[in-house]
This record gives sequence, C-alpha cells and structure tokens, in this order.
Amino acid sequence: MSEPTTEKPLPPGMVLGSDGKPCKVCTSFRNWKPAIATREQARSKTSGSGAATTVAASSTSAFLQNKRADCPPDSEELGRATWTFLHTTAAYYPERPTPSQRANMLTLLRSLPVLYPCTHCADDFGEDVKLNAPNVSGRAGLSRWLCERHNEVNKKLGKEQFDCAKTDERWKDGPAD
Ligand code: FAD
Repeated sequence: MSEPTTEKPLPPGMVLGSDGKPCKVCTSFRNWKPAIATREQARSKTSGSGAATTVAASSTSAFLQNKRADCPPDSEELGRATWTFLHTTAAYYPERPTPSQRANMLTLLRSLPVLYPCTHCADDFGEDVKLNAPNVSGRAGLSRWLCERHNEVNKKLGKEQFDCAKTDERWKDGPAD
C-alpha cells in the first residue's frame, strides 16, 4: 500500500524548478495571489472581521504595488527585461553584419534555450527555435524573426499579436509626433 502523501498542493500557476522547489523566476507574482489571499482570509477570520475577501483582495493588490524594487524578478519582469534587450539589440544590429557578428548573434540566441532561468519558457523557446532557425542575415531580418518568436509566446499566453511592421517604431525610432 502506498504511503499517504503529506505534501501540500502547489498554488495554481506556481512552477517547480529543476531542484523540485518553487521557482520564483518561472512564476508570475500574480500567481502567488491565492496563497496570499488564503493567508489574509485566515487572519481576518480569526480576528472576527466579516470582510475577509475584501481584505484579501486589497492586500494582494497592495503586495503587488508595494513590491520592493530590489526583489528578484518574477517571470514577467525577467521576460520584459529580456525582450527589451533582445529587440533593442536586433534594432541596432548592422544591416550587413560581419561573419563574426552573425556568429555571435547566433550564439546569443542559441544560448537562451540552455541558460534562460525560467526553464519551461526556455524549453518552449528552444522548440520554437528548432522549427524556425534564427535569421541573422541583417537588422531587418533579425528584427522580424524576433518579433515572430515573441508573437509565438504572446499567442501561447493569450496576449495580442504585435504588428511586426512596427518593430523599429517600438524599439528604435519611437512614435511619430
Ligand atoms: P512582454 O511580452 O514582455 O513585451 C514587452 C513589450 O514588447 C510590450 O509592451 C510590447 O511593447 C513589445 N512587444 C510585444 N510583443 C512584441 C513582438 N512580438 N515584437 C516586438 N515587440 C513586442 N512567460 C510565460 O509565462 N511563459 C512562457 O513560456 C514564457 N516564455 C518566454 C520566452 C522568452 C524567450 C522570453 C524572453 C520571455 C518569456 N515569457 C514567458 C515572458 C513573457 O513573454 C512576457 O515577457 C511576460 O509575460 C511580461 O509580458 P508583458 O505583457 O509585460 O510584455
């Protein structure tokens, strides 16, 4: 007969890392909401308040708003910073890169599936890059390729598709006045 398990279920959205522990950088802080809400509801009930849900919701929102600036990143903050770096680097990549610049860009892009610390993000990105080889031929091709890869992630997350004709406006030139 198997032993009854004593492990607590993970909060929805919480992802485990390769060490089997909750992985902060693979999880959005938003997904810690249920754990915070439950804790606040319990606190509120023991103190006799009838407004447990309101207290929990406002405390979650306060937690997200007041998150310290020196906290390690969650998956969203890391994602935004990484996309910013990648799209900006593509926007300033030469029109006619040297063989060495192409090789270095390929190394950078092929390193992501191996090194990106959100492991499930890295695995999915790696699968996508296997199907869609990086275009490092020049600035325009690289910017489009990256835009399309980012749109694949957007699709997976149920977000809007970005118009890839607007990558320069977003990442290099800024909006026309
Ligand atoms: P982001 O998606 O981070 O975008 C930042 C800004 O880029 C936007 O505000 C917009 O102005 C611009 N933008 C949006 N789309 C495009 C585009 N196609 N081309 C050019 N510019 C664009 N999160 C997960 O939860 N699961 C994953 O599997 C996952 N995989 C990821 C893989 C990689 C390689 C990276 C870098 C990130 C991944 N993320 C993943 C994080 C996720 O993509 C977002 O960065 C995160 O959810 C924050 O999203 P956001 O809405 O703030 O904007």
